[in-house]
Amino acid sequence: MSKPPLGLCHETLLELKSYRPKQTTKIKLDANESPFDLGAGIKSQILGSLSNVDFHRYPDPQALELRERLADTFGGSFEEYVVGCGSDEIIALLMLTLGRTRSGLSQAAVMYPTPTFVMYRHSAQAHGLLPIEVPLLDDWSVEPDGFVSAIRRHRPNLIFLASPNNPTGRKFSEAELDAILSATDEDMLVVIDEAYGAFAERKHIYRESARIGWMGTLSKVGLAAIRVGWIRLNRNLANEVDKARQPFNLNSLSQKVASLALGICRDELMSQITSVVEERGRMTHELSSLGFSVFPSEANFLLVRCGIGTGVDLDARTIEASLRKEFGIGVRVFNESRLQKDLRITVGTSTENDQLLSALQSIL
Ligand code: PMP
Repeated sequence: MSKPPLGLCHETLLELKSYRPKQTTKIKLDANESPFDLGAGIKSQILGSLSNVDFHRYPDPQALELRERLADTFGGSFEEYVVGCGSDEIIALLMLTLGRTRSGLSQAAVMYPTPTFVMYRHSAQAHGLLPIEVPLLDDWSVEPDGFVSAIRRHRPNLIFLASPNNPTGRKFSEAELDAILSATDEDMLVVIDEAYGAFAERKHIYRESARIGWMGTLSKVGLAAIRVGWIRLNRNLANEVDKARQPFNLNSLSQKVASLALGICRDELMSQITSVVEERGRMTHELSSLGFSVFPSEANFLLVRCGIGTGVDLDARTIEASLRKEFGIGVRVFNESRLQKDLRITVGTSTENDQLLSALQSIL
């Protein structure tokens, strides 16, 4: 049998594994989705308006209605927004657009503090860029001097800061952001990934800067199924990113639902966010009472530590496996060495959270 031309694949791609989340469980607390579907009333209103979509036509390649809605909701002009099939696609588009190798370097670099969202590394490697990882301190804050000297040494094209961060749940302070921003040159882009911004007590102060991209998504606030993400950028840079985008990257149904979501669904989504935040507070308390060390979180999940040195004897992998096999509850464990003792638990509905707590009680 003849062999496929694997030698032509990017070397960095061959080192990667496809992103394959674990099989689904009855109670899904492993993917940071919203536990709430849209209410029946709003859902049927949305489905009703989808009947106006021309199924035989390509989508609006400019996604104008949606970009205007985004500008109404988050500020600026629609020309500053690029939309994608989830913020995953936006991350990939940034790698494509801003991937030029600087003179004196052998590869364009992408920098981010770790632990963080795995797609920054994955996407950088898939696009032949060099990931540069700077460890966070033990309280998950940035060590400003170390980060600043890493910027000077590696001169990254792109810096990703998820804030609140996944999986730590911590939001970077304005001072941390300013320290990083002041170390960047004009030819670097800092992407502030606010995927979990809706759950934070306060959003980051908006900074009018051509060196910053503000990234967002509807995936965490109840609309993961439609895959809509965006970035707000300086309009000249947005224009370049737009050239790298496939013209019909966002289908008509997603464009329509997202536009409606930012309008008629807003109150409902806001009240769902409020109940996730309330449950996050309750779960912090309850999980701490069970002996877990719970990191403070401004996101829709909690990072909890167990095993030696905590009030829980069992290790994270044993707990994860028991929850999954005996109770049909999925939570997340990690391969990274610094997260070996940690579980990431997405905040569910109050019923799901109660089921998790009683499962944990019986496991422990
Ligand atoms: N950013 C962060 C920090 C995330 O955790 C995730 C999803 N886990 C994303 C971006 C991607 O979100 P999506 O592609 O669904 O918009």
